[in-house]
Amino acid sequence: MLVVDDRQENLSSMRQLLRRPGLVILTAASGNEALGLMLEHDLALVLLDVQMPGMNGFEVAELMRRNERTRHVPIIFVTAIDKERRQVFSGYEAGAVDYLFKPVDPFIIRSKVAVFLEMKEAQLARERLVRELNRAYNRLQKLSDRKTDYLSAASHELRTPLTVIKEYCTLVHDGIVGEANDEQRHCMSVALRNCNRLATLVDDVLDLDAIEAGEVNCRPREVRLDGILNACRDDFLECCAARGQELRVERETQLPPVLADPALVTQILVNLLGNAHKFTPNGGVVTLRAGTSDGRVHLEVADTGPGIAPEDLRRVFDKFAQTGADAGGYTGNGLGLAISSRLATLLGGELQVESERGRGALFRFALPAYSAERHLAAFVADGTERLERVDASWTLVLLRTAEAGRVESRLGAVTDRVIRRNTDSITSLEIDGRQTVAVVLAADRDGAVSFLSRVEAEWERDGETAASVRYLVLDLPVDERSAFSLESAPPVFQSMGVMTG
Ligand code: ADP
Repeated sequence: MLVVDDRQENLSSMRQLLRRPGLVILTAASGNEALGLMLEHDLALVLLDVQMPGMNGFEVAELMRRNERTRHVPIIFVTAIDKERRQVFSGYEAGAVDYLFKPVDPFIIRSKVAVFLEMKEAQLARERLVRELNRAYNRLQKLSDRKTDYLSAASHELRTPLTVIKEYCTLVHDGIVGEANDEQRHCMSVALRNCNRLATLVDDVLDLDAIEAGEVNCRPREVRLDGILNACRDDFLECCAARGQELRVERETQLPPVLADPALVTQILVNLLGNAHKFTPNGGVVTLRAGTSDGRVHLEVADTGPGIAPEDLRRVFDKFAQTGADAGGYTGNGLGLAISSRLATLLGGELQVESERGRGALFRFALPAYSAERHLAAFVADGTERLERVDASWTLVLLRTAEAGRVESRLGAVTDRVIRRNTDSITSLEIDGRQTVAVVLAADRDGAVSFLSRVEAEWERDGETAASVRYLVLDLPVDERSAFSLESAPPVFQSMGVMTG
């Protein structure tokens, strides 16, 4: 602690009075000297005489308040002035100020000082604890990363030998390398079933790994859900019927198209339906539902199975989480929901669950209704984010054409050679009623111009005139996006924050 008083005899008597083991008492005979010491030491408390020549105690405190390093140091003012003067210093941190009146009572001053010293000790202990927790957290994080790396490396290595084992088991099972008797065939089918289990686990681990590394190809576009819902129904009709389960599909008649990647939507629904089917007892009901509200399409999978206990609801989305629910003889690895919930997030939604023990489970997620603005915004955000991550400059190229589908597939060939690996950012959409192919190129403006001349050359080589394709280059350098010119851009861009931000 620091004692500030202009009279040496007061400083000495305070030293005597407050001395205790482990406490360092610094002294200063003026405000200036005190402020200097405060900057050098981490103080538990300042005992500050108010009446001093030059800078008085309140002025010292005012300067302490203005400095980040000293503003939280508690102060005990020692004053002969009457109590009204307290107001003078009302601006200081509440609770960090106390007063002692002269003549000072030794018992009172000792106990007040003791309170502040205990507070400081508690604060130091807290800081030590936080440091230790941080260190422990970092250590665990590193270990967890290493475990994940190890798991994914092992999974990769398992893939090839697993495929070979499966192939050879099949050869024996199917009698291709010589007639197999019933017992041998049975042995091989058990081996094959377990190979498939392992293969699913390996695929799931790698899937999750790819999602977490941001390497999943999510290509949202205009999707009509009817096709997906029908395909899911067809996939599960037979296996549900085999267990006497009713599979219901309930959908609104006029489902609007959504902005989504159909492969990922299918993957989520298949996983949810698979769970509903396997956890619902024979004779139960599995329902797949689709409906709109708030401009979004909500997809739900509900069942009449055992449900999930409240304490398990949160963790079903964790990796390898299993609640021990009866899976009717089916196996699982506890990764399906972890993958599905991450995929739902990639699609701009959130996978949610509602359930009570014994009353079935309901999983749902939502997809945004389709609009060209949303499509272009998502496409540009995704493509540019990937390029910015590797510090590459990028250019958005839009080609307006009557035959977007054909142009897109043709461009694929050119872009393969131009766009960096892993940035296959190309899509077609209708902007302002016109077919448009959008490409996020890993190139600056010059690169984009050269890309376009290669596109033209490709076209002409095929005997088509470049004039059949009109293009527009919007130059969006990473660090000066606002410099991009809107004059020639279609109106849709003007409403897009992502382009002008
Ligand atoms: P898996 O099904 O392979 O075990 P999931 O990640 O798909 O892994 O599911 C995790 C756990 O959540 C399951 O093991 C089960 O305990 C619980 N669960 C998932 N879906 C349902 C459901 N429809 N009804 C009851 N429990 C479920």
